[in-house]
Amino acid sequence: MRLDGKIALITGAARGQGAAAARRFAAEGAKVMLTDVLDDQGKELAAELGAEYCHLDVSDEDGWAEAVAVTISTFGDITVLVNNAGILHFSALAETTLADYQRVIGINQVGTFLGMRAVVESMTRAGGGSIVNVSSVEGLGGMPYLVAYTASKFAIRGMTKVAAMELGQHGIRVNSVHPGAINTPMVGEALGRPIDISPIGKKVALRRVGQPDDVANVVLFLASDESAYCSGAEFVVDGGATATH
Ligand code: NAD
Repeated sequence: MRLDGKIALITGAARGQGAAAARRFAAEGAKVMLTDVLDDQGKELAAELGAEYCHLDVSDEDGWAEAVAVTISTFGDITVLVNNAGILHFSALAETTLADYQRVIGINQVGTFLGMRAVVESMTRAGGGSIVNVSSVEGLGGMPYLVAYTASKFAIRGMTKVAAMELGQHGIRVNSVHPGAINTPMVGEALGRPIDISPIGKKVALRRVGQPDDVANVVLFLASDESAYCSGAEFVVDGGATATH
């Protein structure tokens, strides 16, 4: 199996792309610690997959220390971290409050920083590992009404490069994934109502929006030894949406 012997912690794993990654990881032989703030959904999925679940708000520094400690005591040293948890907030720049801005940055950007920092010691002890940071196509180019989100996703892309350069000497690879429009509850949650995002797909080269598995398959590749010589790189999963950039 492609992830035999791997010990993985995934954030935001209760649903959407994180849940899809958790399913693929478990099916490929990894020991998986699902984490999220949606405890009921997370526990249910973990039980279904024969995995474990731990509550983790990624913006909480102490929470990270606890989640990492629980993962190590349950499975052993962590060899894969997927920094997937994220939120979206739509508002015009002039109407974005500091609280809105800081909430998005706190989860998407600070959460990713805290996550990478929290696993370095364990991964180094394990002899190396793979960190997969979920950015977005909004980490490659600007998008109106998404000032905080875009800033946070550019920051994730930048931090990925720094971490790759610092941690490569310990056998730790760090890459970013840049999904386009993916069919998950995220956009609907930000708008406060469920929404069909499939019309966005009509403008994409492949003429469809992405599904969580489209991203999970790339995350799986990056978590596995098949990507042994990939680090500091950007993996775009957008059906060709940004091909003209
Ligand atoms: P989603 O809303 O289904 O999943 C996000 C998960 O993160 C949820 O389970 C949620 O509970 C969790 N989460 C939210 N705040 C958290 C916190 N403080 N601590 C821990 N967990 C928290 O959306 P998704 O599309 O699966 O999003 C996964 C990642 O993909 C996010 O980083 C998102 O920005 C990114 N992304 C999504 C799209 C898209 O179109 N859906 C496109 C590009 C990038």
